[in-house]
Amino acid sequence: MVPIIGMSDQTNLTNFSGDKKAWPVYMTIGNLPSTIRNRPGSMAILLLGLLPIPPKLAKSSRADKLQRLINADTLRGVFELIFAPLNGAAREGAPIDCADGKIRRCFPIMSGWIADHMENVTLHGIKSNACPKCEVPPEELGSRAGHHRARDYARYERYERENPSLDSETHDAAHARYTNETHGIKRGQNVFQGLVRVSTPDLHKPDMLHTIYLGLFKHMMDWIQGFLKKHARQQAFDDAWKALPPYPGFFVPKKAYREVTQWQGKEMRNLGRCLLGVLAVALRQPDSTQVQPFRRALTCVRSLLDFTMMAQYRSHTPETISYMEEYATQFHETKDIFLEFRISKRTQEKADELRKELRRQRAQMRERVPPSQRRQSRDDDREEENDQHMELIHSESNFNFVKMHLISHFRDHI
Ligand SMILES: [Zn+2]
Repeated sequence: MVPIIGMSDQTNLTNFSGDKKAWPVYMTIGNLPSTIRNRPGSMAILLLGLLPIPPKLAKSSRADKLQRLINADTLRGVFELIFAPLNGAAREGAPIDCADGKIRRCFPIMSGWIADHMENVTLHGIKSNACPKCEVPPEELGSRAGHHRARDYARYERYERENPSLDSETHDAAHARYTNETHGIKRGQNVFQGLVRVSTPDLHKPDMLHTIYLGLFKHMMDWIQGFLKKHARQQAFDDAWKALPPYPGFFVPKKAYREVTQWQGKEMRNLGRCLLGVLAVALRQPDSTQVQPFRRALTCVRSLLDFTMMAQYRSHTPETISYMEEYATQFHETKDIFLEFRISKRTQEKADELRKELRRQRAQMRERVPPSQRRQSRDDDREEENDQHMELIHSESNFNFVKMHLISHFRDHI
């Protein structure tokens, strides 16, 4: 068997002249050591083609909706052309020259597709808050609990064939049932459907760069900055950051953390190596109210970092996998400490509004309290205000985004 690995990435070609984009599709094979595959001169990765890029559409009119369907159909058609030579060979096998001079009957089978989440969304024909591997509902993306049914695109297509009424928009009930049944699927738009000997949801692979470095780490850095600000530890963090000494394999950051504007994979990987130490230094000597939250924040960050380190092992045993599971669970159990920094603009506005309203009511009431009791009542008010504020944030904020969910698939893959 020759596992085929496909890759695609829609890229902006230049920032200088106009809005030029390219959408290349590459392939390589799985029976190559990754050191050879990643060497630029080895020709291990071949360009298969450039996909057509449709013009960008606004989300409004009916004509645009039609155009969107045509675009999806075109894309699927192009992929059918690209995959056509593969299907015959995957079914019957094909004689292939091997490196040892022998000719063998080989079965090239599509085994993985490497792409970022938005690319997967387009190619799998799913909504942007859906998982390409399983049917997790959007409101459960941030939770650890539960195992969700794997996606079965063949079942979705069968369902469509058996329910022709889905095409007319007037059948609301049928449509609602369909959406229920398929969880975030755009109908018939999966370009991988129909590949021979391939289970479509298995094409998605865990991806350290997009899921962790550019995904969770980026989010986590925002939470940590919020946390440091709340506890007035930003300066301590920056000082520790700037004092990092050089050591082999570690690239000393030249700028203060807050001055770094571009965070790419390399910087994020570097950050993962020193973040916990810097944070532990910044959170030294907590006062009595800070002991608990500081410990929780450190545990949360440490769990995610440990998970990341473990996920990079070249081979695993049941023991290392159980460690990974443990770290992921611990991360989910402690991440609530950062929930208030997941606050959306709308919630922030609501919270400000609520605070203003409370203060106005208080000012009126305070006039009726004798001056000697005013100080006590002010303290009580502040406490109540904080409680209400936190309650609002906890009810309105959540961790439901796709990258939070995707780490739960690392284990299945190993
Ligand atoms: Zn999933």
